[in-house]
Amino acid sequence: MLNCKEACKLLSQGQDRELTRGERWQLRLHLPFCPSCRRYHAQLAFIRKQVGQWQRESENNRHEVENRLP
Ligand SMILES: [Zn+2]
Repeated sequence: MLNCKEACKLLSQGQDRELTRGERWQLRLHLPFCPSCRRYHAQLAFIRKQVGQWQRESENNRHEVENRLP
C-alpha cells in the first residue's frame, strides 16, 4: 500500500507524464481512504486549470494588441 508521500509524488508526476497502469492502480487504492491526498489532487487539478486559463488569456491579449496596431 502506498503511503502519502509516495502518493503525492505520483500525483505530481502524473501532471508531467502518463502514469503506468500499476501506479494509477495504487493511487486508486490510496485516494478513497485519504482525504489529504484527495485534497492535494484537487489542488493540482485546480492549479493546472488556472495555468491553462492564464495562458489562453495572455494569448488573447496578444492578439488584441496586434489587432490594434495600424
Ligand atoms: Zn495519502
